[in-house]
Amino acid sequence: MSSTTPTRILILGGGFGGVYTALTLERVLRRELKRGEVEIALVSRDNYLTFQPMLPEVVSGSIGILDTITPIRRLCPRTDLYTRAIEEIDLKRRRVTLAAGVGSRQLQLGYDQLVIALGNVTSFAGQPGLSEHALPFKYLGDALVLRNHAIHALEEADIERDPKARAGLLTFVVAGGGFSGVEAVAELNDFVRAAARSFRNIRPEEIRVVLLHAADLILPELPRNLAEFAQRLLMKRGVELRLNTRLAGATAEAALLKGGERIETRTLVSTVPGGPNPVVAALDCPKDRGRIVTDSFLQVPSLPGVWAVGDCAHIVDASTGEPCPPTAQHAVREGRCAAENIAASLRGSAQRAFAFKALGKMGSLGHRSAVAEVFGLKLSGFLAWWLWRTVYLMKLPGLDRKIRVAVDWTLDLLLPSDIVQLRTDRAVSIRREHFEPGQAIFREGDHGDWLYLIEEGEVEVRKQVAGEREVPIRRLGPGDCFGEIALLGDHVRTASTHSLTSANVLAIDRDACQALLSTLPPLRDFFNRLVEERVGMRPESGDGHGLDLIESRQ
Ligand SMILES: Cc1cc2nc3c(=O)[nH]c(=O)nc-3n(C[C@H](O)[C@H](O)[C@H](O)COP(=O)(O)OP(=O)(O)OC[C@H]3O[C@@H](n4cnc5c(N)ncnc54)[C@H](O)[C@@H]3O)c2cc1C
Repeated sequence: MSSTTPTRILILGGGFGGVYTALTLERVLRRELKRGEVEIALVSRDNYLTFQPMLPEVVSGSIGILDTITPIRRLCPRTDLYTRAIEEIDLKRRRVTLAAGVGSRQLQLGYDQLVIALGNVTSFAGQPGLSEHALPFKYLGDALVLRNHAIHALEEADIERDPKARAGLLTFVVAGGGFSGVEAVAELNDFVRAAARSFRNIRPEEIRVVLLHAADLILPELPRNLAEFAQRLLMKRGVELRLNTRLAGATAEAALLKGGERIETRTLVSTVPGGPNPVVAALDCPKDRGRIVTDSFLQVPSLPGVWAVGDCAHIVDASTGEPCPPTAQHAVREGRCAAENIAASLRGSAQRAFAFKALGKMGSLGHRSAVAEVFGLKLSGFLAWWLWRTVYLMKLPGLDRKIRVAVDWTLDLLLPSDIVQLRTDRAVSIRREHFEPGQAIFREGDHGDWLYLIEEGEVEVRKQVAGEREVPIRRLGPGDCFGEIALLGDHVRTASTHSLTSANVLAIDRDACQALLSTLPPLRDFFNRLVEERVGMRPESGDGHGLDLIESRQ
């Protein structure tokens, strides 16, 4: 190693794989770091490591929101942290481009050694309506959104009188019977049933919690008897299991199942396996089902100095010859192994092939119960739950976090669950929505606060005649807009709109529309003409408010 130009080791990703690579490098290259021969840098979107195995407990509030995360700066004090999004990896020029931060400048970082640990991403591709209406469950923000969403549904149900709308609000659906889906449904079930006791108008029998799973037994990673135990326990607690059932799509009001069935729900969580990270997908290197193929030392063949670990890497275990599963246990060990091999390659010493026998598998089922298979031993119920908590408490990085979680767990045994709904969402100005054929987008008399642009599909505008029968007045397709008359006129909808086919639309709220119309005169003129034309086309003539309003706000 040269003492004048430090060797730069760049780690991409602040999850288990990336952080444990940095932690180990700081330890094994302590001397080189002190002498300035080596520098370590880590880039991640967030400045913290999320302890994902505990995310389901954030939903129920058993542990505090911030207790599942640990600041990377504290864990890796000798690593330079760049809290930025990675846009591109240029393997030829050995350069990584980071997105612009506060200013508008991108940042470029060169490297001598590169560790790619970018994990995978939630992907709803090929399932209509899921990216618009299903809640993912991977990051801390997802757990927080789900918790707030569930409380909001209970709040709305408490004051809703329409039985169909109530049923949708009080039905909670989780798709995916793997570990994260089962743990999420168990915590969600415990939480909504306990929280509902504080709502005067919600009866316990109105609550429905449903788990959808594509095979005939949940938790395929576990032995059959443990998975069956988990199934029985969930059912006893009131979770409805829908086995051999696949989710096919979603609307704002329903989960759509393969085969045509629909479950009316306002809360759909999807824990389907993730797809490849787009930054990884763009790389020109050997891959196996989107994961970067490494050799047994975790280096990418034909790319000297490039390593890959964690969920984004396809690694074959040297002792079993089997591909490593995407788990935190493996990502941590792979990170350590890559760090040791980088140090060995810098010193010219021997590297070690990656081999790791998983210590066991554990899944929490809420209510002081779990299932576990540890060192070949099968456990279920309270003992498994105690083991689950002990192991995860020990694994949680940082002493302060361990103390906080231990205190939270103790208090949770004594105190009722919190039902405070935190308003964390910023004002929405534009969103995507998906509608199934025949679904109402809005009805006559509704408040007109959104303008819609059709991306795909067809919709029909209908108007009531003599206060009863609805007659079609307009058919619209891709590129058309609707909803402008009530929105711009600041009055209720004067017609209803239904989707004729499966339709994807962009919805723009009142404030965003007004901002656009008041700053873009050609757009304002376009809408003035459109409202004039459409008001003139209606069977009963409109009140003309639309035109007045646009002009008065110029
Ligand atoms: C709910 C849930 C429960 C789980 N429970 C368990 C369990 O009990 N036991 C177990 O072993 N495993 C569990 N897992 C799986 C485990 O969490 C993953 O296998 C592990 O996190 C993989 O680590 P990783 O470092 O490869 O990826 P990740 O943890 O996904 O980290 C990837 C990192 O890269 C960053 N990143 C990605 N793209 C960019 C970009 N473009 N720019 C900047 N940064 C970027 C991300 O922000 C993140 O910090 C669970 C997963 C989930 C979702």
